[in-house]
Amino acid sequence: MATNYPILRLKRGKEESLDRFHPWVFSGALTAMPSDIDEGDLVRIVASDGRTIGVGHFQIGSIAVRMLAFDDIEIGADFYRDCLAQAWLLRQRLGLTRPDNTAFRLVHGEGDFLPGLVVDVYGDTAVVQAHSPGMHFAREVIARQLVELTAGGVPLGVKNVYYKSETTLPYKAHLDPVNDYLIGHSDENIATENGLRFNIDWLRGQKTGFFVDQRDNRALLRRYAAGRRVLNMFCYTGGFSVYALAGGATQVVSVDSSAKAVALTKANAELNFPADTRHTAVAEDAFNFLAGMDKGAYDLIVLDPPAFAKHRSALHNALQGYRRLNARAFEKIAPGGVLFTFSCSQAVSREQFRTAVFSAAAQSRRRVRILHQLTQPADHPVSIYHPEGEYLKGLVLYVE
Ligand code: SAH
Repeated sequence: MATNYPILRLKRGKEESLDRFHPWVFSGALTAMPSDIDEGDLVRIVASDGRTIGVGHFQIGSIAVRMLAFDDIEIGADFYRDCLAQAWLLRQRLGLTRPDNTAFRLVHGEGDFLPGLVVDVYGDTAVVQAHSPGMHFAREVIARQLVELTAGGVPLGVKNVYYKSETTLPYKAHLDPVNDYLIGHSDENIATENGLRFNIDWLRGQKTGFFVDQRDNRALLRRYAAGRRVLNMFCYTGGFSVYALAGGATQVVSVDSSAKAVALTKANAELNFPADTRHTAVAEDAFNFLAGMDKGAYDLIVLDPPAFAKHRSALHNALQGYRRLNARAFEKIAPGGVLFTFSCSQAVSREQFRTAVFSAAAQSRRRVRILHQLTQPADHPVSIYHPEGEYLKGLVLYVE
């Protein structure tokens, strides 16, 4: 049976990308907008020849509709249950729901065919982030389904759902979201990643409290850490630092401009390696720290800065930033050193990032080889129909 959602019509020829399942409808692709639809409403998209393309969430902005299904189906509890069940099944098949790995991303927006929704799981707490008004309105249904679906799951199943969307929803939509528990409550905030333990502060931390997207790359760093002096720049919660200690580094220095991040890093190092004198953490600007440090002081350097380009307009400056930052590392890293360098800017392509790092390497006149090309882990999947979902890029370089 056809849905009775308000109909939005596409201009002639604008159905092409949707016929290939790209999940965004840009406002310019639509004919006149009906006056009776509100942000977050479910709408039916119809091509200029009258054919129904599918249904999605409407919002005001350049992306006017995020497609939820390429059929004319009801979007209710059953829909969310089915999508979340697929997401949960995939994480189980990826082997991420183990007793020694309780932190993972359960829903990665378009990559799980749920545009506008992010869910990270930490032990028995799920942190839900809505990026679209439509997902904001669906939050209660989603929270209930998360608990029902994972009940009795390995390792714990979701018992508490914390909603954290104050900074991710479009400000102009006036939704006034409140960060709070939708279900349950938890003061137990230690999660395990690859057997290492981390305090996760979803109440006050950045994003959902932890950067689960570096899990595989941290595991790779553990293999390179033995006998090395490690510098972890932009450490945030100290993920790379803890793995470096676990991998047998002789010294680990963590740097972040935020004093709160430095405190978190210290606490996480202490949690796994109590009273271990190999680790120190410093609150300082990364560029200052790199400028001031001695040449050859470190044989393994991690550069994992925040997104330098949040939007395409900032692209040029962002590329300059990556070049300057990496140039410092090439200038200072010890001979035979290994550099782990990342960009999480969605607006910067893999090619552009590699070119920025290449320019930095050339400036240092050192012999530099690529050992690994890194990306986001499998619990941050990229829908093949939505290449924009790929955002994390990394290179592991051997510097002579
Ligand atoms: N590597 C981390 C994630 C980094 S997030 C992980 O694996 O979890 C980026 C971090 O960079 C934030 O903690 C932020 O406080 C820090 N930061 C931002 N600008 C900085 C600067 N100029 N110097 C040092 N740290 C900075």
